[in-house]
Amino acid sequence: MPLTVTCHACGTAFEWPRPRCTCGEPTWYAYPVGERWPGTTAERMWRFADWLPVEAPEGPQTAVGGTPLVRVPSLDEIGCRVHVKLESANPTGTFKDRGSVVGVAWAAERAFDHVGTVSHGNMAMSVAAAAAASDLGCVVLVPADIPRARLAHIAQFGATIVRVEGSYGELYHESLSIGPDLGVRFVNSDDPLRVAGQGTVGLELAAETTPMPPDAVVVPTSSGGLASGLWRAFRDLFEAGLVSTIPRLYLVQTDAAAPIADAFAAGADRVTAVPPAETVAYSIGNPDPPSGNRALSAARETGGAVVSATDAALIDARRALAREAGLSVEAASAASLAGARRLAEAGELASDDDVVLVATGTGFKEPIDDDVEVPTVPLTSLGPSLEGLLAG
Ligand SMILES: *Cc1c(COP(=O)(O)O)cnc(C)c1O
Ligand SMILES: [Zn+2]
Repeated sequence: MPLTVTCHACGTAFEWPRPRCTCGEPTWYAYPVGERWPGTTAERMWRFADWLPVEAPEGPQTAVGGTPLVRVPSLDEIGCRVHVKLESANPTGTFKDRGSVVGVAWAAERAFDHVGTVSHGNMAMSVAAAAAASDLGCVVLVPADIPRARLAHIAQFGATIVRVEGSYGELYHESLSIGPDLGVRFVNSDDPLRVAGQGTVGLELAAETTPMPPDAVVVPTSSGGLASGLWRAFRDLFEAGLVSTIPRLYLVQTDAAAPIADAFAAGADRVTAVPPAETVAYSIGNPDPPSGNRALSAARETGGAVVSATDAALIDARRALAREAGLSVEAASAASLAGARRLAEAGELASDDDVVLVATGTGFKEPIDDDVEVPTVPLTSLGPSLEGLLAG
């Protein structure tokens, strides 16, 4: 069956594959939401297989999604009722797996030999893992200056990794133009198949909280792919009458790369790229987000907002999630808590609002720069030493 995608901005319909419209904006896929929720017999995110553009695969790919949604009262002191959606529970520790398995399943159904992606972090690991799980080859294009530790994380899945010199922003567009001739299906940050897969975060959230969706969802944002998927999911559910309201979508960027937050604050219609800058939150460090305009609309149209946080606030939020909730997330992922704090202070979140923070990525992949002070004591005096430590 031919697959139709539409431009989010001008509405033009295209037959897939067609990731961008003639107007330059990304296309997306509408979920054919039915009159009732699908049953829970299928595995995890594949519960929604009838609404997805691919057949449910068999094998390790079925491990993706179905992540826990937990209530965290110890964080309510920020000023709202806090819930956390633990996307860190996915096979490679991020929500990216949801998009990767859909993109890879589509390529496998059409007998592609290779999938590919442009990423130097979580998406690269996720696509490489999904390709390995379905026995496809994988091409990962990374910037020349990628840290070695991250390279090893990607390489473990057996992908063909190529360091590319030149503009990393242009690499996104170049991959889409060379992919078809090479027989490589690139599943980049805001690819419609990826966005459709990642939108299952929203489908799950809504199904888990039916009949009343949360008041707000707070999500770390870089390219805008996850925010787009959440928006699409809630819109389609709302139109089908399966949810009574659409949650306010709050997007959180890092101060080092906050073009969407800048456009929101300025009341602009379009997002303008900013110069690249260093940040501890490299997973949300995209200075030129390909789905920036769409993410901006997602926040505006749902009555949400786009804010940003300093590296110090991100590190502090990462610590709070670990210490107050026992949850380890990477600094980029802690943006949801850092942002929620700001939003509650600004009166955007109320104390009786049910707010879902999306824990987008596990903390166990990134080194933690922390000066940890640990005493050393002789075994012979362990008892008294511990007594002193616990009393102090
Ligand atoms: C990719 C990623 C994001 C940002 O998602 P976008 O779809 O690029 O906006 C946030 N957090 C983590 C951990 C990620 O890996
Ligand atoms: Zn268009």
